[in-house]
Amino acid sequence: MNAPVITSRQLESYVAGQWARGAGKAVALLDAATGNVVAHIDASGLDMKAMLDHGRRTGGPALRKMSFHERALMLKALGQALMEAKEEFYALSTATGATRTDSWIDIEGGIGTLLSYASKGRRELPNARTLIDGEVEALSRDNSFSGQHILTPLEGVAIHINAFNFPCWGMLEKLAPTLLAGMPAIIKPASQTAYLTELMVRRIIALNILPEGALQLISGSVGDLLDHVDCQDVVTFTGSAATGRKLRSNPSIVENSVRFTMEADSLNAAILGPDAVAGTEEFDLFVKEVAREMTVKAGQKCTAIRRVFAPHRSVEALVKALGDRLVKTAVGNPAEDTARMGPLASLAQRDEVRQRIKDLQRDAEIVIGDPDRPTIVSGDAEAGAFLNPVLLYCDKPASAQAVHDVEAFGPVSTIMPYETIEDAAALARRGKGSLVASVFTNDPVFAREAVQALGPWHGRLLIGNRASAKSSTGHGSPLPGLVHGGPGRAGGGEELGGMRSVKHYMQRTAVQAAPWLLSEVTGRWMQGAKVKQDSVHPFRKSLAELEIGDQVVTAARTVTLEDIEHFASFTGDTFYAHMDEAAAKANPFFDGCVAHGYLIVSFAAGLFVDPAPGPVLANYGVDSLRFLKPVNPGDTLRVTLTCKQINPRQTEDYGEVRWDCMVSNQDAEVVAQYDVLTMVAKTL
Ligand code: NDP
Repeated sequence: MNAPVITSRQLESYVAGQWARGAGKAVALLDAATGNVVAHIDASGLDMKAMLDHGRRTGGPALRKMSFHERALMLKALGQALMEAKEEFYALSTATGATRTDSWIDIEGGIGTLLSYASKGRRELPNARTLIDGEVEALSRDNSFSGQHILTPLEGVAIHINAFNFPCWGMLEKLAPTLLAGMPAIIKPASQTAYLTELMVRRIIALNILPEGALQLISGSVGDLLDHVDCQDVVTFTGSAATGRKLRSNPSIVENSVRFTMEADSLNAAILGPDAVAGTEEFDLFVKEVAREMTVKAGQKCTAIRRVFAPHRSVEALVKALGDRLVKTAVGNPAEDTARMGPLASLAQRDEVRQRIKDLQRDAEIVIGDPDRPTIVSGDAEAGAFLNPVLLYCDKPASAQAVHDVEAFGPVSTIMPYETIEDAAALARRGKGSLVASVFTNDPVFAREAVQALGPWHGRLLIGNRASAKSSTGHGSPLPGLVHGGPGRAGGGEELGGMRSVKHYMQRTAVQAAPWLLSEVTGRWMQGAKVKQDSVHPFRKSLAELEIGDQVVTAARTVTLEDIEHFASFTGDTFYAHMDEAAAKANPFFDGCVAHGYLIVSFAAGLFVDPAPGPVLANYGVDSLRFLKPVNPGDTLRVTLTCKQINPRQTEDYGEVRWDCMVSNQDAEVVAQYDVLTMVAKTL
């Protein structure tokens, strides 16, 4: 048992390099289970404009001086240090009503997201400050004018307004892509659980890993902050749709076209497949998943299952199985080991959920649970915001309204029957756009139809079945590498999704110029840019000596029929187009036997490789390999190999080098084109 040692204190904001208190009357924040005062909060009178200025003038420039890899390593150091301090966060987290498992999602899930971005950032982004987006667009026939999209970090501040349910994860999942992109952030946690965010921010600031101005905190109301945003700022919001709509229409946000990402209410659905009848593995998995989603974080998750759709004939068994499971959930003070589910975040939140259950009762009847009389194993029934799981059943979902409209943000779900996949999809759509839906089925046809029908209405879809039962991350878990967000009512935003979210904090710009100039600007060689051929083979140059545009044009080699036959028998690739003259001739693409594509690639390597030990350490692949013209016996090949991009590793003594490899024939026609990827030592 982790008994939290909590003394009530006034939370502070971190404003322009100083910890500061509001000048107004602080509001008490209560422990969700005991009602004891945990902290006081107030941010009135703080200079919000100064915060924005500080981020823009101090944090932004410091971050933009760093490369993606330097910033990724910064996130790694931060994640590792926070992980070491995690028990302190766990101890305070119980006051929010979170059990150890709930806190794990919030604390270690959040820190894990930082670490995931740290490693993905180094794998998927260059060690540079500009990101190249897509391929070069040739804009002239003679290769004298081209276009290239690039991404550069926005020069403003990202303001993250977060919800009460994930005081750590909510901050870190947005902070990771923001900082990786090179943008500073101002965090505004929801007041109710801001003490935990404040503690984590205190530790982050004290670690001194982030440059000054990269992170600021508002403990309390944002005051006039949003009135000062401009086109270089970003605002993200997680919370209720009503607040989100209000903020989105703030005049400064509208007039300056400020990027606004919203993640709001969501009436997420779970669909039991027609094949998943009682007794099947999918039925059991479904019951487990719905019960888990209702009870983890006491159902206070934006991704929790609110609507459960089951075939008519499975409803009775489902109600029974779910009911059996839910009544066993031990509700109590999360500081005690006996509790499997904690209270809601506050008494006000419980009042709100009770009211929403009443709304749902317009369409549905309660089949499990009593919202007004909590049964608990520990904690204070009067002062704690306890609510046992409540399961409702709505018999006529097609004509019902409230079940598709009302989000009871607690351990509450409604079961509804359906007939066909079209019915189930139509009902799911009544949620007007959701973050996630899950389908439990072992039937590939049903799975395919469900994904097709639900896709446009959801940001994420999970198909649960026996094959993924052990490894599935579950309906309710947003993951760093996958998109989190949904259309319509879910806010229309998109977070996470790996490097996709980093780009939300950058501006995409199409740059047009002469290729040589464009190469200089982007750091990537392209056709038409300058080349340098000297007496030293580029493979003999270390990373320190190698330059973009360094080129070798090889000797020529003629491909013979014997070469092709030898390659065929040696590799076993005796495809008719290489072996059977008549059959090859009958093929619409060939005029007789042709060389294997991989023979061309192999001969090319034989032509461009400089064999002696040297700075080139390994060839780790090729990208974008295309065979453009057939090679017939008697054709003569030559390779032009040009250094295209150099990516030195931050912490290693080597880097990656991308080479443009063009194989042409005796008529100077390109027969194959690809990028060769090598690792090259920084020094000889
Ligand atoms: P709110 O929308 O009231 O609050 C969300 C965030 O916005 C908080 O940080 C809040 O700060 C802030 N905020 C509120 N008003 C303003 C304003 N005028 N200007 C700037 N910031 C503002 O949601 P709640 O947290 O109160 O939750 C209410 C309901 O929202 C829940 O019952 C649930 O239905 C839904 N919700 C949905 C979530 C999701 O992830 N989809 C998550 C949490 C809630 P402060 O706390 O200081 O008011």
